Amino acid sequence: MALYVYKFGGTSVGTVERIKAVADKVKRAHEAGDQLVVVVSAMSGETNRLIGLAKQMQVQPTERELDVLVSTGEQVTIALLCMALHDLGCNAVSYTGSQVRILTDSSFSKARIREIDDAKIRADLADGKVVVVAGFQGVDQDGNITTLGRGGSDTTGVALAAALKADECHIYTDVDGVYTTDPRVVPKARRLDKITFEEMLEMASLGSKVLQIRSVEFAGKYNVALRVLSSFAEGNGTLITYEDSNMEKALISGIAFNRDEAKLTLSGVPDLPGVASKILGPVAAENIEVDMIVQNVGANGTTDFTFTVNRNDYLRASNVLEGLRDQLGAQVVSGDDSIVKVSIVGVGMRSHAGIASTMFKVLADEGINIQMISTSEIKISVVIAEKYLELAVRALHTAFGLDQA
Ligand code: ASP
Ligand code: MG
Repeated sequence: MALYVYKFGGTSVGTVERIKAVADKVKRAHEAGDQLVVVVSAMSGETNRLIGLAKQMQVQPTERELDVLVSTGEQVTIALLCMALHDLGCNAVSYTGSQVRILTDSSFSKARIREIDDAKIRADLADGKVVVVAGFQGVDQDGNITTLGRGGSDTTGVALAAALKADECHIYTDVDGVYTTDPRVVPKARRLDKITFEEMLEMASLGSKVLQIRSVEFAGKYNVALRVLSSFAEGNGTLITYEDSNMEKALISGIAFNRDEAKLTLSGVPDLPGVASKILGPVAAENIEVDMIVQNVGANGTTDFTFTVNRNDYLRASNVLEGLRDQLGAQVVSGDDSIVKVSIVGVGMRSHAGIASTMFKVLADEGINIQMISTSEIKISVVIAEKYLELAVRALHTAFGLDQA
């Protein structure tokens, strides 16, 4: 008998009909003999609606109360799903995060799970029940309700799968798996049968929004086999797992991109110790996250310093640099908020030379200028002008053999 954790996202439980369809799927798997723990999100749009209500009360809602409020979304869904299951004659019981006792720290709205008490769930499973658990929420040591951050139900699912040593954690969503890139940009994008945790993490942090990043980290850490599948269509989805010898032997597994980028340059900065920290210190103090950083080789005692930030932070970052210019004896502040980052990701890079040069040649052949480059063990990212995004992603997708046959 296999034990599965199924997680259904907001669109999968977005209407009464859809909750009934989820119940039907759960009932069939249960009847086939699997033990099931089902984690659900709030009905789609509900969490945003609740946050909207809170903002009508307070510009900056009190954190503790905000978590009390937004956690109700998932409480509605667990009850409705259990009712739908009961209506089908399936024995099921619902629990909120605090009833299970998903113990978290006390960082409201971004709490981290510390410990899960699985006694009640195990007893119910042994009794033949389906256990339905509210995603996204927990309880701190003092009994306060906490939430795990947007998209946090994925993490609830993975954490329960880890605690229960489930055979697999299924994340049911509105797409049928993880794709080589966004199919809206590249119609020939392909669903991957498998991808490694590391690759998925890179894809997720680079802007591929299928799973909450923390859930992937968690799954990797506790070796939870994670499968992304469609709630609406049949199919095996994409398995996220450790690298094994049967893995598709692709050099590149996917292409990620991020449109929300902007770059800033401080030119003619004296090339002296401490300059980088004098620039980035004040930027960090404004709570602006910096992504790529490039400093030129110094010439004539000065150098140029360029970095990228989220496009929303562009103006604030420019202001910080303007403020620093005279203080640092720099000459010019310049910037561009119509750039994007395109990255190729693949564990195959570790054992193959020449991937970077292939990438650069593909872009050169399309007449696309590369403005910045950064690399890690399993990814290469470039910054290019926004207007070339689609062209670049499509050309790379073809060149690295990712197009659908
Ligand atoms: N309902 C929460 C959200 O919208 C958590 C989740 O869906 O995973 O972010
Ligand atoms: Mg989600």
